[in-house]
Amino acid sequence: MIDEHLDSLLSDRLAAIERAKSDGVKVVGYFPGPYVPEELVYASGALPVCLAHGGNAQVADRALSLLPPVICPFARAQVGEMLLKTSPVYKAIDMLVVPSTCQHLRKTGDVWEYYEATEVFKLGVPYDPGEGPALTYYRARLDDLRARLESLTGRTITDVSLGDAVGVYNRLREALRNISLMRRDALPAISGLEFMKLNHASLWCDPSSVADVLETVHRERLAAEPVARAGTPRLLLVGPNVAVGDYGILEMVEGAGASIVIEDVFEGVRDYWCDVRDGGDVLDAMVRARLVDRAPAAFMRSSTRPRFDFISKLIRDFQVSGVIWYELMCCEFYDQDAYFFEDRLRAMDIPMLVIESNYDDVRSGSVRTRLEAFLEVVRGGAAHA
Ligand code: SF4
Repeated sequence: MIDEHLDSLLSDRLAAIERAKSDGVKVVGYFPGPYVPEELVYASGALPVCLAHGGNAQVADRALSLLPPVICPFARAQVGEMLLKTSPVYKAIDMLVVPSTCQHLRKTGDVWEYYEATEVFKLGVPYDPGEGPALTYYRARLDDLRARLESLTGRTITDVSLGDAVGVYNRLREALRNISLMRRDALPAISGLEFMKLNHASLWCDPSSVADVLETVHRERLAAEPVARAGTPRLLLVGPNVAVGDYGILEMVEGAGASIVIEDVFEGVRDYWCDVRDGGDVLDAMVRARLVDRAPAAFMRSSTRPRFDFISKLIRDFQVSGVIWYELMCCEFYDQDAYFFEDRLRAMDIPMLVIESNYDDVRSGSVRTRLEAFLEVVRGGAAHA
């Protein structure tokens, strides 16, 4: 049933993108992470689409003619799609918004700007979140983005249209949150893979249509039978990125008889925990939702403790008994953090398995063997992952 909903959402979006091209409506692409405010793009009348396809080593390797292999496979996959031009979404981009959240995405934006001559907006995101100058700086970047979008679309973004857009995206976040929180149940009625695909659809389909589908799925699943059996190991998936199409790790986990019951993924999924609050200046509220209310990202200074605290809370709330640390090759932030998190989690008696992916090896026999050994530990066995 979820697959039927997804197929219909995706075909509607592709048709809307095609119509946009003939009707002169602009398509604005952006790289994932919670810092590009889709509400602004939506309020400008352009179609916001998150460029988050990945999981295919051949597409990522296509970028090796322009990028060195030290660039992570997710960032390379974006350039691969740009070069291949087989995706109607990547072909349709009139303007690209690139957040300064890591050097790999920065480089990807530079390559895109140079080779495609697409308008690229570089969105600076402060490294020191919280109160003070960081908020002023980020607010100024959003003011600039607002002006660039108005010039692209020829439409003024009023506070009313922006408030309406925030309402649309708050509804979408709430709908995702409601489905996600169902997974706190001892026997969840939705699998990790299903939730991931719904989350991915929310990144590039029409937000109102996705919210309709999510609310329907939530109602349906409240009355549905569980998808997991008693005794199934409950896992938290942590990582920088799970791209649209990068489903190997979720399929392997479910195939091995375990469940991903919650994710903490920085990019490639929508961050749905924090709404933009009502009242006051809308842009200021959007700034606070991203820099004050949400847990900081790995690239930010002093983020380790709040991120660990956030993960610890997820472990308690979702009764997690093991952590899969799914990092992409050459992703320095997550590579550097893995040791600390594994050590701290061990002190909580929560085992952690690190899997590094270059998109071509995640379904390999050695990963499967390590995963099975890890699940034995999670189940209380004697093997060492
Ligand atoms: S996976 Fe890591 S290196 Fe790649 S884009 Fe994400 S944060 Fe950057």
